[in-house]
Amino acid sequence: MIHTLIVGAGPTGLVTAMLLAADGHRVTVVDQDPSPPADGPYGVWQKWRRPGVRQFAAAHALAPAGHSVLRRELPETVSEVVRWGGHRHNMIVGALSLLPEGMAESGDARFGTVAARRPVLEAALLAVAGRTSGITLRRGVRATRLSAEDAPGVPGGHVTGVVLDHGEHITADLVVVASGRGGFTTALPAVTTTGPEGRERGTNRGFRYYTQHFRAADGHLLGPAPWPLHHHDSVSVIVVPGDNGTWSMTLVTSGADQDLRRLAHGDIWQRTAALYPGLAPWAQGEPLGGVVAVGGIHTVRRRLVHAGRPLVTGLVTVGDAWATTNPQFGLGITLGIMQATILRDTLRATDTELVLHFDDLTERHLTPLWSGLAAWETHRQAEIAADMRGEAYHSPDPAWNQHVAGRTAALRDAGVMRALAEIGFLLTDAREAMGKPGLMARFAELAAHAPRYADGPDRRALLAATREPGRLSI
Ligand SMILES: Cc1cc2nc3c(=O)[nH]c(=O)nc-3n(C[C@H](O)[C@H](O)[C@H](O)COP(=O)(O)OP(=O)(O)OC[C@H]3O[C@@H](n4cnc5c(N)ncnc54)[C@H](O)[C@@H]3O)c2cc1C
Repeated sequence: MIHTLIVGAGPTGLVTAMLLAADGHRVTVVDQDPSPPADGPYGVWQKWRRPGVRQFAAAHALAPAGHSVLRRELPETVSEVVRWGGHRHNMIVGALSLLPEGMAESGDARFGTVAARRPVLEAALLAVAGRTSGITLRRGVRATRLSAEDAPGVPGGHVTGVVLDHGEHITADLVVVASGRGGFTTALPAVTTTGPEGRERGTNRGFRYYTQHFRAADGHLLGPAPWPLHHHDSVSVIVVPGDNGTWSMTLVTSGADQDLRRLAHGDIWQRTAALYPGLAPWAQGEPLGGVVAVGGIHTVRRRLVHAGRPLVTGLVTVGDAWATTNPQFGLGITLGIMQATILRDTLRATDTELVLHFDDLTERHLTPLWSGLAAWETHRQAEIAADMRGEAYHSPDPAWNQHVAGRTAALRDAGVMRALAEIGFLLTDAREAMGKPGLMARFAELAAHAPRYADGPDRRALLAATREPGRLSI
């Protein structure tokens, strides 16, 4: 059994810690941010400041695949989220109920998850990690650099531990960097100094997210939440339930869309959200604070292996420190959870060449998902840019064209909806999901008549709504 030092106590760091501790490893987790206040969901939402996580107050959903791993591997975490007011939620039952043949089936349980605002989800994970034997949690301490010794043929050497901001040196058999999108990843020397495969790779485009959280006056949701993600002319809309009778609605624009930056104003956001017919009721609760605007979010992947050789040993990266995805599909936490299980399994299988084995499994199981999401992002950015010019976007890429057809077709047929939900929530791959008898034919038939976008305002109506005078409410 080894001593593992984890830099970062976000969802990935905490889940990794709990999985490794369950296998008997000794784990130390350090995080630069303070502990949550002790007064429950209200306190963590109102008072917990997490400068280390820029998107902390943005809408977050836990995808069914991530929920299923937690339920299987760390069931206490799911019960703890529910104890904190987490809402047991099925991602497709609301959308199914709008279809004539949309009766829920017993197999639909696979689309279940637990919904909670991000601070509440994280506080619950932290509570369970805090009472797990074998885990030492240290908050309010920042890792500033790695310590390493020379290792033959390994450019970054063998990492032996981490130095904290007050000078303390913690040694470890393995350092796991779970420090999120930015933070400590700049301290990884090998990644940025060796060959192109090892360099940061990413799409340098961005979206901007304008989230308004709501609470129901009577503490209950309006009803089953709708299909979570809808694409429209230059805007996408995300609706997700939260804990304790809360939910959120997010309007997503291109980061380059200066005209829609006024969505950060509460009343302009409200006026614009009301233009989406099927979703407007979800923009009508009691607002919880102002609009949360987050931008400058880029998709990046970092590898510690180049040309089949490790750039460094004694160190792995997980979660957003490994790769970030565009958040519209709500998969970041789930990918982090999946990668934590890959690390646990790698440690079970081998104690040599850990970096190589872990990289190999990550490349096989997770990189194809990351690549698909990165390609989608490039297309969607181009599509929005075309919307802004008043043109239609066309691409010969079959994966993109299937996505465009699927986004409204999914809302018209229960079988197609289930198949696309299985793919989108990472429950199975496209070949298996679409391979059910007759499904491709049904999909093609719907796709032939599917409008590009669901009902909603065109660009002109959007600009009109955002140009009317508004009061600054953030
Ligand atoms: C707008 C937006 C919406 C999103 N919505 C969703 C969603 O609906 N569903 C979903 O699954 N994902 C979503 N994501 C992605 C999700 O937020 C990330 O994937 C997730 O936070 C990754 O978790 P992590 O633990 O890897 O990193 P983080 O959550 O970023 O945690 C990293 C931790 O490391 C700490 N840290 C950093 N540097 C140091 C250091 N030097 N020393 C000590 N500690 C350090 C930080 O304080 C932080 O606690 C969204 C992202 C954005 C931007």
